[in-house]
Amino acid sequence: MDTDWTHRLLADSSIAGGTAAVTDPLRPVTRDGLDGPDVPVDGMDRADILIVGGGPAGLAAARTCEGLGVNYQIIEAAPEVGGQLLWTHTAIDDYLGLSGTSATALLDHLKDGLKPDWLRLGWRVTGADPERRRVFVTTSAGERRSVSYQRLILAIGARPRPLPVPGLDLPGVHDASFSLSRHAIEFAGRTVVIVGGGDRALEGALTLARAGARVHVLQRSARLRARPLFADAAMANRSVQVALDTVVTAIRCEVGAAGGLIVEAFHQPTGQEVQIPCDAVVVRIGMDPPSEWLRGWLDVEPDGTLPVDGWGRTRHLAVYACGDAVVPAFGRRLQTAIGQGMLAARTAVMVR
Ligand SMILES: Cc1cc2nc3c(=O)[nH]c(=O)nc-3n(C[C@H](O)[C@H](O)[C@H](O)COP(=O)(O)OP(=O)(O)OC[C@H]3O[C@@H](n4cnc5c(N)ncnc54)[C@H](O)[C@@H]3O)c2cc1C
Repeated sequence: MDTDWTHRLLADSSIAGGTAAVTDPLRPVTRDGLDGPDVPVDGMDRADILIVGGGPAGLAAARTCEGLGVNYQIIEAAPEVGGQLLWTHTAIDDYLGLSGTSATALLDHLKDGLKPDWLRLGWRVTGADPERRRVFVTTSAGERRSVSYQRLILAIGARPRPLPVPGLDLPGVHDASFSLSRHAIEFAGRTVVIVGGGDRALEGALTLARAGARVHVLQRSARLRARPLFADAAMANRSVQVALDTVVTAIRCEVGAAGGLIVEAFHQPTGQEVQIPCDAVVVRIGMDPPSEWLRGWLDVEPDGTLPVDGWGRTRHLAVYACGDAVVPAFGRRLQTAIGQGMLAARTAVMVR
């Protein structure tokens, strides 16, 4: 390893140049495994590079570890890898060099060459003891275990932000993981309420309107956040009614009501209450990294994102992060997540 280069990276970095990184550098990597402090491993699983999250960023990190010939393990809470790619049912049109590809094809590329025995599916990481370099997990069988690591790569992505109102668990109420392009046709002739005013909310409203649905878009603030591409088209579409400054307070089921669901809301400037009978509600108010379990020992921004330096290092020794979890909402894209996953893994293995 090029020691000058390593020192220059550490010195350049505002994030990773903290005391821990300088006074307790990790020992160099060997192809036979990563050296590090002794960690009790009795009865515990162990990985040199432990990757939390099997979305595009985590898979790219794993592919990179595979290429570098180091031992790694992915822990993924879902029953299969792919992250948000599993929710994507339209062509990916902004992936340079692969424009028009499907999410399934991209996922196949990312998984290609990964060994299944290095995947822990259905395991959720719930906490960590970073001093002893281990994380706590709940396995798919509901067991609580710990896994020790030499380097930890957090590729936890983002998950739909819940609307803070009662009724989210009613049948017909969906979050941002619900694919409207896949299900739009089922809503032909029906009424759907979309909560949110960003790109995905307005894009979803247009998809539903084109499939013959009547759509109400309820947006809390005084303007839509969506790009004109979606916002202007939605405003011009007679099947889409946009209500700004409108705050949802509850969703309830009412026997006999048209469609069976009622969305209750009020108009902020006037206080006027509205009730909208509908067949379905789709909440698309944004996504946040699921980083609650990291608060208290790792820097976490108020919006849940994890600060890293340009090389994917957090302030904590041996802990790296990548993908949607480190990027504000406007920058969350596949190509970014995959590139960051590769870089975080290369930094973890080759730099410190
Ligand atoms: C419908 C839709 C369409 C999209 N279309 C495009 C597009 O056309 N072009 C584009 O560039 N981007 C698109 N995106 C965005 C893109 O999918 C994301 O930027 C990308 O998936 C981010 O990858 P990631 O690995 O960082 O996070 P994610 O894909 O969110 O993966 C994170 C993974 O970590 C797991 N995880 C989280 N916490 C834990 C834990 N504690 N323990 C274990 N596992 C955990 C999650 O289960 C998840 O599988 C789209 C997103 C959606 C939802």
